[in-house]
Amino acid sequence: MTANKMNEPSQRPVVCWFRRDLRVADNPAFHSAVATGLPVIPLFVVDSDLIAGIPSDGAVFDFQAEALRDLDENLKKLGGRLIVRKGRLLEVFSSIIAEAAPIFCFFNRDYEPSALERDSNAANFLQSKGISVSSFKDVVIHAPDEVLTTGGGTYAVFTPYAAKWKTLSKPTPVGRPARFVTPHLRSDDIPGASSIGRKVEIQSPAVRGGETNAKSRWEQFLGTALAGYGESRDIPSIDGTSMMSPYLRFGCISPVRMYADLLSAALRTGRRDFGDKYLSELIWREFYTAVLYHFPLTAGGNYRREFDSMKWNTDGSVFKAWKEGRTGFPLVDAGMRQLNRTGWMHNRVRMVVASFLTKDLLTDWREGEKYFATKLLDIEKASNVGGWQWSASTGVDPKPLRIFNPTLQAERYDPEGKYIRKWIPELRNVPAKFIFEPWKMGPALQGESGVLIGKDYPAPIVDHREAAASFKRAYYSVKDANRAPETIGSIKRRK
Ligand SMILES: Cc1cc2nc3c(=O)[nH]c(=O)nc-3n(C[C@H](O)[C@H](O)[C@H](O)COP(=O)(O)OP(=O)(O)OC[C@H]3O[C@@H](n4cnc5c(N)ncnc54)[C@H](O)[C@@H]3O)c2cc1C
Repeated sequence: MTANKMNEPSQRPVVCWFRRDLRVADNPAFHSAVATGLPVIPLFVVDSDLIAGIPSDGAVFDFQAEALRDLDENLKKLGGRLIVRKGRLLEVFSSIIAEAAPIFCFFNRDYEPSALERDSNAANFLQSKGISVSSFKDVVIHAPDEVLTTGGGTYAVFTPYAAKWKTLSKPTPVGRPARFVTPHLRSDDIPGASSIGRKVEIQSPAVRGGETNAKSRWEQFLGTALAGYGESRDIPSIDGTSMMSPYLRFGCISPVRMYADLLSAALRTGRRDFGDKYLSELIWREFYTAVLYHFPLTAGGNYRREFDSMKWNTDGSVFKAWKEGRTGFPLVDAGMRQLNRTGWMHNRVRMVVASFLTKDLLTDWREGEKYFATKLLDIEKASNVGGWQWSASTGVDPKPLRIFNPTLQAERYDPEGKYIRKWIPELRNVPAKFIFEPWKMGPALQGESGVLIGKDYPAPIVDHREAAASFKRAYYSVKDANRAPETIGSIKRRK
């Protein structure tokens, strides 16, 4: 298209602002942008201010770069291409307006508190320049304001939330969009860890980014592990979970598509409950999204406010041992090493390491949450804060106080010690009888197994029974001093 033609009123382009929806299939904002029949500017903004506030390892940015390259390829197959621009968001929009005079901007909504603020500023700015803005539901099947109690209240307990969620009618995938053109505009390079100056410590990322990889991983999971998911999802040594979390985080696949596929699988098998357990996990994700949306202060504060007076341990040496996977408790250490090496950790083990940090080491959950945020490829503020507050017993959905015993958890969920041996090679030759408690081996057996406790692998840094008892004392002293407990309070949002 020539510049003149592009400036004719009927040919003014529309912007599709990509953020955490890096795909072409079932992407409502992109679909609507293409459906206008006008030229489309698929825009990704590399906002230096935003990046500075993201603590992630470089591997997360490399994952995003893979997803962006794949997105560009997929856009090219439809006739267009990705336009990447570096700079502050509103300045980038100003240049795009000056260069291409778009009439519309489409984007998919994000419910994280900081994203809500950014999007509202961006929408106000664009509208002030005469550009119409349309936003769409995308990162969840049901937005936080859709799943409310009959009185219009918010849920703070999962089971009734999930029951209500299931009663609502579901959106269907919008499918693949038609062909389109992208105006001739300059594009900056796709940013990876090195170009933004971020160190890569995660050496072997668990998965590679992109819509294409997401699709093939999802199809593989649907055809294999989904059938046994209910049983295998708790066993960290097997490939029993979907590993879709990083793809959901970057929007390389849509939850609406996943829901539709689960439904088709249930129809195919003739079992109505087929995929139910998996669906329940997707609902947990939406539950936590809703909790953070309605209670944004939980991002950094205890939902149950009585725990504001909890005296956490600030001993940096135990926190360091936990981060490095050197606590002496094999399942905890295996999990932390999997995280440090791959940017992903199995859910069962996330629960164990989080319980261990908060309850055995009495360390503030916020420290663990921050550390996970630096390492996880699937980092989602809502699920991370939700998972940590659940583990620390400071969050929504109060359950009886749970303190995981890291040895019993290992015996139950890694009965042959396969997961432990994989991530802690120094324990590879420890006999099965001692794999969960290697410190119980005598000196001769340690020698035979090639691991000297205290030298090659640490002795336990705490006594679990004593640590659990002291956590209980701290926990009940806070609870008993607050007979009328308060919660953090929700934010009433303007519609
Ligand atoms: C302390 C802690 C921190 C966590 N931090 C995150 C995080 O930052 N990002 C994140 O996506 N998940 C987080 N989780 C939840 C869960 O561990 C991961 O979603 C899961 O391990 C991802 O692997 P998967 O895709 O193979 O899961 P699958 O078992 O295949 O589950 C399918 C999908 O359901 C969702 N899901 C599963 N379990 C949960 C859960 N407990 N809470 C919320 N959503 C869930 C995820 O989107 C996941 O991809 C955290 C859990 C804990 C205990």
